[in-house]
This record gives sequence, C-alpha cells and structure tokens, in this order.
Amino acid sequence: MSDETVTVPARGGKAAHVKKGQHIKIINTHGEQVVDTWAFNADDVAEFMAMDATRAYNQRMVPKVGDHLVTNQRRPILTLVEDTSPGVHDTQMAACDRWRYGLLGVKEYHDNCADNLTAGLGELGLKETHTPAPLNLFMNIPWTPDGGLSFEAPVTKPGDYVVFKAEMDCVVAMSACPQDLLPINGKGGEPTEAHFEVY
Ligand SMILES: [Zn+2]
Repeated sequence: MSDETVTVPARGGKAAHVKKGQHIKIINTHGEQVVDTWAFNADDVAEFMAMDATRAYNQRMVPKVGDHLVTNQRRPILTLVEDTSPGVHDTQMAACDRWRYGLLGVKEYHDNCADNLTAGLGELGLKETHTPAPLNLFMNIPWTPDGGLSFEAPVTKPGDYVVFKAEMDCVVAMSACPQDLLPINGKGGEPTEAHFEVY
C-alpha cells in the first residue's frame, strides 16, 4: 500500500475530500468487511448520493463497472470504474444505527455506521442533514423473486477493492461496519479495518 493509504479503523468511520476527476479506491483489506459508503456534494451536504435514484438511473439493483451513482438531484456524483470483487454489493439496507442494535437486543451503546458517518464528516467540519441510505460495499444481501432478502457472509477475498471516479467535488465517507450480531462480516467474524486511497 502507498503512503497515501488511509485506514478506516475496524468499527469506525472516516471521510475524505475527492475532487472532480480524482479517484477513490476502497479496499476490503482483510476480505470479509462490509464498508458502508456515502458521497456528498462538497459544497452542499444536502445533495448526497442516493441509492433509490441510482437504482432508477441504472435500472439495476447493484451498480456495475461503468455505472454512475447519482444524487438526490439525479446528478452523477461517482462512477464505478473498477471492481476486483465479484461485484456483490448492497443498496437495500439502511446503515446500522443505535435503533437497529436495540432491535437486536443490545442494551448498551454499540458502535454503528450512522454514528461513524457523523464522526467521519465531523473530522472535516461537516455535518450530514440525515443518514442517507448507504452503498454497502461488499455486503451480500441476496434476494428471491418473491422479494425475500437474507443476510449472508461476503463473497470477497482479502485485498478486493473498488475504484470510483468523482463526477463533482465531493466528500466520500466510509464506515467499517461494526455489525457483529449478524453474519454479514464473515461467519461470526469480528469487524476488521478497511483502507482507501484518493488519487
Ligand atoms: Zn453498519
């Protein structure tokens, strides 16, 4: 990894500015880590990468290489330009938050992606207006023809990565999902760190 490699700590969040035309490479370093990912217009966090608008734009449940990811104003903000993983990502699931862990029976505080988004943006002096639906990189949520969804272990391998090109000046936020009660981060696996590079 290069000097510019930044760590998204296990169970934590990080964000970075990505200028129009720059790339961000998001690395699933240890192989079975879901990385919740958001993008915001650098000049207006009320414009954000929107999964519902992106599904409509591409007429696809999960973006493929070459697809634009668009904002709630239907403008491309990122383009997926490379994906060394099998291409299994999720656009359906809300970011985990304190209420999600409450439903799972957790009484005390549990690290969560929504708070990780707040922390990552906060390091840059920004504050989200709400928690947009994330692009859940490497998250394996297969669906059935009757609409059923299930939580499965990732099908990725260590070092798999995706690369996005920025279509506007933006801020990309990432959370190494701390979900350790459902098998989404490997079978009973502990959440691990991930990494990214902007270039
Ligand atoms: Zn999460």
